[in-house]
Amino acid sequence: MISKRIQEMVPSVTLAQSEKIAFLKKQGIDVIGFNIGEPDFNTPMNIIKKAEEAYSLGLTKYTPAAGMIDLREEVCRKFKKDYNLDYSVRDVIVSSGAKQSLTNALMAIVDPDDEVIVPTPCWISYIEMIKLTGGKAVLVEMDESNGFDLDVDKIAKHITPKTKAVLINSPNNPTGAVYKKQDVEKLGNLAVKHNFYIISDEIYEKLIYTEEQNCCTASISPEIKEKTITINGVSKSYAMTGWRIGFAVGPTDVIKAMSDYQGHTTTSPNSPAQYASIEALRNSEEFVQEMKKEFDKRRKYIVERLNKMEGIKCYEPKGAFYVMPNIKYFYGRKYKDFIINNPMDMCDYLLEESRIAVVTGAAFLAPHNIRISYSNSMENIKTGMDRMEEALKKLK
Ligand code: PMP
Repeated sequence: MISKRIQEMVPSVTLAQSEKIAFLKKQGIDVIGFNIGEPDFNTPMNIIKKAEEAYSLGLTKYTPAAGMIDLREEVCRKFKKDYNLDYSVRDVIVSSGAKQSLTNALMAIVDPDDEVIVPTPCWISYIEMIKLTGGKAVLVEMDESNGFDLDVDKIAKHITPKTKAVLINSPNNPTGAVYKKQDVEKLGNLAVKHNFYIISDEIYEKLIYTEEQNCCTASISPEIKEKTITINGVSKSYAMTGWRIGFAVGPTDVIKAMSDYQGHTTTSPNSPAQYASIEALRNSEEFVQEMKKEFDKRRKYIVERLNKMEGIKCYEPKGAFYVMPNIKYFYGRKYKDFIINNPMDMCDYLLEESRIAVVTGAAFLAPHNIRISYSNSMENIKTGMDRMEEALKKLK
């Protein structure tokens, strides 16, 4: 009796892994989690205080479907300050997480049989969200040898009259790639020429460790801005994953369609969390810089350690908090009952033998990689890398 729509959904590969991890932890085994997709920092106190204030001020009612006007104004200020972009309140929607903004955007623009191009490896939810609209995800593989940079020429080959959007994510989960302005511009010009949208998921924008700035797609030109729906939120930048506040900016008609859909499906996002998010956007620069400095230290350390392990090849990610080493070298190797033939085998092996939890790249359409999140303490990263190195040496 379950709908075809849901039956056709591919269940999350990571869920099965989480189950195994939970089981080991329950037995008292100390598993170090490198499978985590959220900052290990606490939400800053000034933001928490604002949520408390919201409760006592009675800001506990529904808000407009697209979110509190004050927060939407703050989002406009953010885009002006960060990228010199002009948006009005009607061009902004606040949702229950960036994830909901993404679903809204896809529901607003994709008709059955429309195509949405997604460069891979990618966050797997994109594909399931596209399928839910009745549209088709067209997957285009990016090249590992250049750190999974955006290859626009390759994407261009997949543009058809049915292309409704290209969905990009920079800084990227899972690859850590940060797209170059000239590549995003080239893609933007294609969107203008062929009349499709770019959905630009910039949720990790604050976590870039090189000299590069986040290339905000909409800021490249007014024509490209007209074709771009930018997705962002407070989850990753301000360690607020559980608060469930995301937002999107874009063409007024698309944002209106997204609000109409959101109005019927959730009414409005959580009101105290919206109120606290104003504070997050306004007064958290110091926190962001501290968090970024710490992530950068861990990133450098983990990449160095991984590349010293025999058989591991790992490019240096520029953003987000993930590294994705290639583990092909180990295919066919064995230890005890374990034979490594794919990244899932490697995840199982590392969990059992070294008690570290990593995620199979297959969950992100990276068939020969594992994703390691460095959202964990330096101490745990050191211990985890020691354990991993030891376990890999045993594979013969
Ligand atoms: N986009 C990407 C690429 C993500 O990795 C995530 C979180 N894992 C999200 C969007 C969703 O963020 P939110 O918590 O705001 O829904």
